[in-house]
Amino acid sequence: MVAPQGLIAHGRGEAFDYVIGERTMPAASVATLAAAALLLKAEWPVISVNGNAAALTGKEIVSLASIVSASIEVNLFHRTLEREKLIARLLKSFGAKEVLGVGSAASRTIRGISSSRANVDPNGIGKADVVLIPLEDGDRAQALEHDGKSVIAIDLNPLSRTSQVASVTIVDNVVRAIPALIRSSRKMKELPKSQLEKYISRFNNERNLANAVEQIVQYLQGWMEN
Ligand code: ATP
Ligand code: MG
Repeated sequence: MVAPQGLIAHGRGEAFDYVIGERTMPAASVATLAAAALLLKAEWPVISVNGNAAALTGKEIVSLASIVSASIEVNLFHRTLEREKLIARLLKSFGAKEVLGVGSAASRTIRGISSSRANVDPNGIGKADVVLIPLEDGDRAQALEHDGKSVIAIDLNPLSRTSQVASVTIVDNVVRAIPALIRSSRKMKELPKSQLEKYISRFNNERNLANAVEQIVQYLQGWMEN
């Protein structure tokens, strides 16, 4: 399921996980609330899944999708039908009823992406208003925002282009971030739309990323002092 390049991306992520202390920072928890509100309030929320996301948190992604009523779509940088099918099969074994984006189902092209990540399902990411993209690539995050969608990114690197261009960036490991999103979405599910809107409008991604960097610096200073 995972492309060799995915292993390199994982290594880059792990390097950042050390400097954030392998725990969920306060800034990530703030972003998680805004992300849960966006997903719950969305008309057509979609969770985009690549090989790394499926391997690390496939099961949790299926539960999150069911709690926030989101569709699940396979979207790969290094696309082969075999990998798409393997990932779809895994997600279905965890209870996903439908997995979009497999093979010819990905018939729409998002402008501004040179890789095969441009190919999306017209019934999924194609018409989505909110897209959750764990472990993304900056080009696609930007192209989806240009297409008028709100992008929620999960990325251990607060300095990546993905982190900078998303509407909401959760700077945390997917293995901690998705379970945290599940917990928040469960708690917030019954809130009225006006309350959800407050979580969204109060959130500022640029400011929150600056807080994440500040929290990394504080953690490293504490580490040096001890
Ligand atoms: P960008 O294109 O956004 O500037 P990039 O080229 O460094 O970033 P990509 O390969 O495009 O990175 O995307 C992979 C991203 O996923 C990296 O930023 C990496 O930090 C992040 N990442 C890898 N493993 C994890 C993980 N387990 N949890 C969260 N983020 C991760
Ligand atoms: Mg990249």
